[in-house]
Amino acid sequence: VLAASAALSACAVLAVLSACRGGPPRVEPPDVRGPLVLRVVHPARGATLQARGATWLIGSLGDGRATLTVNGRPAEVRPNGSFLAWVPLPAGDAPAYRLVAALGGDTVRDVLPVRLSHPGPALARTGPLRIDTASLSPREPLRLRGDEPVRVSVRAPANARVWVAAGGARHPLSPGASSADGATDGGRGAERWSVELPAVRLAGRAVLVAARGADTIRLPLAAVDVADAARPAWVVLRHRPESAAREIAGRPEPDGDSRWFFLPGTRLQATGARGDRVRVRLDGGQEAWVDADAATPLAAPADPVLRAGAPVLASAAGWVDLSIPLAAPPAFRVEQGERALSLTLYGVEPGSDAPSLRADGYVREVDAARELPGRVRYTLRLAGAAYGYRASWRDGVFVLRVRRPPAVRPRTPLRGLVIAVDAGHPPHGAVGPTGLRESEVTLQVARRLARLLERRGARVVLTRSGDGPVALEDRTARALNAGAHALVSIHADALDSGQDPARVNGTATFYHHPQSAPLAAAVQRRMVERMGRADRGTRTRNLALVRATWMPAVLCEGAMIVHPDEEAALRTPAFQQAYARGIADGLEDYFRALGGGR
Ligand SMILES: [Zn+2]
Repeated sequence: VLAASAALSACAVLAVLSACRGGPPRVEPPDVRGPLVLRVVHPARGATLQARGATWLIGSLGDGRATLTVNGRPAEVRPNGSFLAWVPLPAGDAPAYRLVAALGGDTVRDVLPVRLSHPGPALARTGPLRIDTASLSPREPLRLRGDEPVRVSVRAPANARVWVAAGGARHPLSPGASSADGATDGGRGAERWSVELPAVRLAGRAVLVAARGADTIRLPLAAVDVADAARPAWVVLRHRPESAAREIAGRPEPDGDSRWFFLPGTRLQATGARGDRVRVRLDGGQEAWVDADAATPLAAPADPVLRAGAPVLASAAGWVDLSIPLAAPPAFRVEQGERALSLTLYGVEPGSDAPSLRADGYVREVDAARELPGRVRYTLRLAGAAYGYRASWRDGVFVLRVRRPPAVRPRTPLRGLVIAVDAGHPPHGAVGPTGLRESEVTLQVARRLARLLERRGARVVLTRSGDGPVALEDRTARALNAGAHALVSIHADALDSGQDPARVNGTATFYHHPQSAPLAAAVQRRMVERMGRADRGTRTRNLALVRATWMPAVLCEGAMIVHPDEEAALRTPAFQQAYARGIADGLEDYFRALGGGR
């Protein structure tokens, strides 16, 4: 805390100096006087803390002269009465933070109970046998091929015996070897026991048994179903009618990040299931996981391989279409390179027809290569940077529509462009120490940004203009429907409970697709210049608002709302304007640089 406050005062000095040169606005909370009121904003009462070792507390005291201790340790109070304390996790059977605030002769006390996500109860080596039933894996019903390995594991005392009873056989678990969090359990006498078995051994009824002396514990395992390889099941991908989403996300792991975005109507073989996810086969070399409620079983099997007709390249004013005749929507993936797009079609054999690919000023060349049996990859070489694309299938033709970068005048780069401005949240959103809501700030900054962009000749589409919640899919849909040339989502960051906002704060920009990297870099550079906060850089993250592919999309975390000084700054019109100007200048830089290849 001491080191952090030294850093803060250094920033304050810099802010004063640069304010003299007309630089970033000064960031220093105002003096606030008032009655002593202790409000804790984070963590919530009774919250489960995922942190290890220490966590952060934020809130306010109503007066900047008040003092605060948390479990006996003094915390820094800022001039506006806000506080940020980095405190060790409490111990004991009823973990809690004891807060004592004082001002003049007044004292206010509060006890904030919390829960800790510890690795499980202590399991004694003596006395009645206990095992950690919550640690049992697998926990969800599985459907797999018979030879696929399933890891069975549980936390149990080191001096017990543990096995799986299935099909009349006993499969012993071994202690220690495959524990995720270290072999033993900190001297608490418990270990992670595990064994890997082929799914077929667990089919039917399998029970985990732990025994010590005269005690025995029996726990039924989640059901394991073996998929019949001779009679493959087929599904068609399709969202529930109420969903605003168009594509169906596919993941390399059941809980992994989305990598594929399949078109509705895609038919695939289902090869497994885990809980509410279904595994589908894209081709002989690739499988993916999709939501079970987006995979409807098909009565009759589909054709395992689609045959592609001759691809055609067609130019239009705003885009170039690569059209490939295919009887049904294929599983596909688009990847972006520096000046290239590649389209992989799974479960597709290229036709024998010679491709008739007329060259275009933007899409210079298209190559097709058969990567594997049943997999073909088209590489599109572009005259300039990749800018946007979308895929569709209609009436027997799959189309990859490659968007041309807009024509840009260097002096007025935003003139005539459509910019989607997204005020992040609600629902959800972070709250600052004095109660400032992220969704209020983002709307203020969005409105300021809209005015700046309109003054520079752009047409602005706000994905939210009121206080009510707007779903993520609806925000992206509004940007797409408006034909936006760029999408900027505005946020004010928070951290998870294991990171200290006194050390990690400032400005960051997120993006997902390589086409958005130059925009993210331009906006980040200008935001840091305008706001004068620490540069946390640009990073990739698979967030809904930056997943759109038809336009470059970035998500800005201009400042950390849970940081007392940054929250105070975010309340001020000058800082909100600096945030908006940083984004507007970044957009201008990006489109000016894009002006070249079209
Ligand atoms: Zn946010």
